[in-house]
Amino acid sequence: MIPIIQFDPSSLTLWYDTHLIARMRGSAEIGKALDLALRGADAELVDHIKSIDDSWVSTRASTIAVACWHEKRHFVDFLLTNYGAFRMRQFFSVYLNFPAVISDAQQMGELLVPLQSYREKLFCKHLGLKSPTDSILAIAKNIRDRKKMLGDDMHVEASRFGDIEISGESLLEAVAHHIQTAKAERVFGIEASHLIQKDVPENSIVSQRYTWAYRLLIHSGLINSPGMIGDGLLIDDSPFLPICYGALACRVWGQQQTRTESTSSFNPSERFASLVIGLRDQAADIHKASVIDAWEIVNRTAKKLFDRTIIEEMRADIELEEDFVTKKMSEDFLKSARTAYRDYHELRVRTFERFVEHPEEVLDQRVYSDSTEKGVAPYVIVAASSGEVGDPPPDYSRILGYSDPELAAKREDARWWWAASLKDQNQRVPNRKIALQSQEVWMEIASDLAPFAKLIMDGRNIRTMLGPEIVAAEARLRTTFKINLVVDPRHAYPKGTIPSDFWYYLTGKDTHRCDMTYETVTKPEGLVVGPWALRLRPGFYDALRGSGYPDTTVALAFWRDWSPWFFSEEFREQFERFVVDDTRIANLGN
Ligand SMILES: [Zn+2]
Repeated sequence: MIPIIQFDPSSLTLWYDTHLIARMRGSAEIGKALDLALRGADAELVDHIKSIDDSWVSTRASTIAVACWHEKRHFVDFLLTNYGAFRMRQFFSVYLNFPAVISDAQQMGELLVPLQSYREKLFCKHLGLKSPTDSILAIAKNIRDRKKMLGDDMHVEASRFGDIEISGESLLEAVAHHIQTAKAERVFGIEASHLIQKDVPENSIVSQRYTWAYRLLIHSGLINSPGMIGDGLLIDDSPFLPICYGALACRVWGQQQTRTESTSSFNPSERFASLVIGLRDQAADIHKASVIDAWEIVNRTAKKLFDRTIIEEMRADIELEEDFVTKKMSEDFLKSARTAYRDYHELRVRTFERFVEHPEEVLDQRVYSDSTEKGVAPYVIVAASSGEVGDPPPDYSRILGYSDPELAAKREDARWWWAASLKDQNQRVPNRKIALQSQEVWMEIASDLAPFAKLIMDGRNIRTMLGPEIVAAEARLRTTFKINLVVDPRHAYPKGTIPSDFWYYLTGKDTHRCDMTYETVTKPEGLVVGPWALRLRPGFYDALRGSGYPDTTVALAFWRDWSPWFFSEEFREQFERFVVDDTRIANLGN
């Protein structure tokens, strides 16, 4: 599926795709709702939604606002929880080592991505690659070890509601989902909130991914459920966020773990299971407890189980980070990455100290929704997936874009941008309470380091908001650093298709024009083709070039547009006849 709005853990930024929003019915109203939600202007948002006559548009505008609250909550949890900090560190360990990777790769003349593939010696020999340096191997091992920890944290359990996944990732989703539904009810009221919950693509299994934790805790007797309203599950939610935060306070700096047969202090899934067991004999108390009392009970139980309260566990994690940031982060590491990590750490310390005194501001959905949420302000990046010709507006900086070295001087369509950010967000965004300070380095991370790290960690097989992110990182390695980049064919492109009903869901329109034949296509017909799938059929690109338009115009347009294309049923047959050839992905310079 293609995201409209997304929190990117690699740069702690919030991205939204303005071109996808532009495809929706009532896009101006929807865009305004997004803007108000980003700024935490709840009262204005409610007035704005009320002023919209078209009920589809008003629901979608509310859905987008709610999605924004969901993504903003991820930012808070990436700051405050040990698990979020671990996920951050995963990227920073690559950023900090950027100079080492580049100089080694230049020495070797080539670089294989993802880096972990270097550990398969026979495979590398088969590809005819040179042996990697020791430090490249060490970084590859570090990436693999961290991935393995995330993999080990993922537990799938059969339940009577189907398979449920318990992991740090699914806990972060459960928390963000809880906040989005709770705040939707508080801001828009219960009826509107039910409409929003139903405003999802057909066939999507949202509930399993987000509501597993409620069901599991109700089943274990730790959360009381008075029943259902319509399709919605009612819960007495006071213990919910405290238990999730207890699980996310994982011990992941290689410290000694506290373990018994049935409990472990290590990763989020084990901690979650340990807490569920450990809290059982206090089920009667935690049911009735306020958020603050539930937090107390979870802390006391953690002390018994793991020898540390949750607060102590969080403090220990922050102290290890402090030690790293102040003593171990040497001058050999990339300067902008050091500056960003310090900025992150300082905000984490401030947010944590406040949290110790006022846990309800984060753990009580009512306090969080009505007040804390409004001051949560990650840096925001605007994506334009079709590529916007020219330069971004004057008060925006380009994050991702392209300017053809020869043609840009001669023709307008040879320069465009895919992502940009409002300048001086520290000054221009009101009420930034939970917010980073060094916008410039974070933007550098979003434009240069994060794409590089993604490529190093996962090859091209990664779901990013914009394909150009990966393509730009590759181009930079090849042209600026003169490194022959080799992509492990098993990670050569992101897989996945977009069902056509998603396009009808997304746009709220019942008819669309075919991008090739211009005929009108009516719901549910048509084929949606993602940008990678288009580029995997070089024959399609060749056919476009033979279609009568000037070659350069077609080449530039195809290079620029990374949004999905929509085809009629008739053109579908023609398109599907073009053979998939992943050795010749159009536009990738190979
Ligand atoms: Zn999420």
